[in-house]
Amino acid sequence: MPRVLVLGAGVLGASVAQQLAAAGADVTVIEAGGPAAGTSSATFSIDVTHLKTPYAYYELNRRSAELHLELGAELGGADWRHPVPLVQWGHTEQEQQIIRDRAERLRGWGHACASADPAELVRLAPGADPDACRADELVVHEHASWYDAPLFTRRLLDRAAMDGADIRYGLRVTGVLRSGDRVTGVRAEGRRFEADWVVNCAGPDAGRIAQLAGGALPLNRVPGLVGESTRLPEGQRLGAILATPGVDLRPAPDGRVVSISWPVDALLPTDGAGTEDTDQGGAPGERRRPDPALERELHRLGRAVYAPLRTAEMAGVRLGVRPVPADGLPLVGCAEATPGLYTLVTHSGVTLAPVLGRLAARELITSRPAPELAAYRPDRTPASGVLDESVQVMSGAGA
Ligand SMILES: Cc1cc2nc3c(=O)[nH]c(=O)nc-3n(C[C@H](O)[C@H](O)[C@H](O)COP(=O)(O)OP(=O)(O)OC[C@H]3O[C@@H](n4cnc5c(N)ncnc54)[C@H](O)[C@@H]3O)c2cc1C
Repeated sequence: MPRVLVLGAGVLGASVAQQLAAAGADVTVIEAGGPAAGTSSATFSIDVTHLKTPYAYYELNRRSAELHLELGAELGGADWRHPVPLVQWGHTEQEQQIIRDRAERLRGWGHACASADPAELVRLAPGADPDACRADELVVHEHASWYDAPLFTRRLLDRAAMDGADIRYGLRVTGVLRSGDRVTGVRAEGRRFEADWVVNCAGPDAGRIAQLAGGALPLNRVPGLVGESTRLPEGQRLGAILATPGVDLRPAPDGRVVSISWPVDALLPTDGAGTEDTDQGGAPGERRRPDPALERELHRLGRAVYAPLRTAEMAGVRLGVRPVPADGLPLVGCAEATPGLYTLVTHSGVTLAPVLGRLAARELITSRPAPELAAYRPDRTPASGVLDESVQVMSGAGA
């Protein structure tokens, strides 16, 4: 069994560490902060399978959503997974057309989604303000889910530790060890860690790890503001994910509501500027507060859609940094320039962690390439456009 160093204890590092430890590998996780210190605790974290293109990538996400359930059975219950319907609408004819086209495509792929009359909003999401919906049609995904990503990450890390993984927090990797061309370990806080494989799960900082090893990754850092409300009283709690033109809302533990807004995110400094918090090993958003005007705007947009938020406060806002590969698709595997360094980084990582963790662990243990990962190698020439529709949505090109 190989000795494997996993860099980063976010949802992807936790997933591959859990799978490796379960298979009997000798695993050490090295994390600058604590569990889920990075993007995995500043995320919207819904199942985004419905936004995925092309088909093979949709299928990978769909399989991962199933694996969330299977993992739940292995770990004593998927208490991080919360099935709720997702209700979506647009305002302009163009937005509505994108949503309709997507629904048609999804139905062709066997994905359950239905059209509904806007009058149904009162039943689907009591509390949603009917005046906030000017559409002539809603699209409803009955089998959507949101995930409690920090809890999921902790569940995976706990199981990995039970299965023998050595998990070290508060250790920042600052250099790599080599033997000839091959990466054979890392340096962290003056200590040396050696292994057969080093797995780069540093999320938005994965490019820096690749650079330490003399490589590069086609990876963008895309900041996003994540708001969380104070608790809503029983009877007023949100029971659906609402995907609207200005703001997306989802339930959160204890009757809170989490919000993100693509229009607000478009006003954040690009390239993760001002979001370098993970350099200090802390959680994004805790040290550097985003512009309070953007925070207020996020809350205002949420209140306009979901009436019970009008009597709630914004309890906290975090600045997350999305690790977004140039063509939108995951980067998984070992690049030719950096043998010994295995990359595992993606946007939509909360959705994808179960399947990517499993496939990556299998490759690391068996040294046999997984055909399901062939399209995602870090060495590929990125497509000229963005292939993943969820990334197009993020850049404002889709509803
Ligand atoms: C606003 C927003 C909304 C999102 N919405 C969704 C969604 O709806 N659905 C979905 O599936 N995904 C969503 N995502 C994306 C998803 O959250 C990420 O893809 C996922 O959390 C990335 O996990 P990770 O483990 O790769 O990275 P991280 O969680 O960032 O973990 C990387 C870890 O590496 C550590 N690290 C970094 N550098 C070093 C170093 N030198 N030494 C040691 N440790 C280091 C960091 O401290 C960190 O803990 C969203 C993200 C954002 C920001």
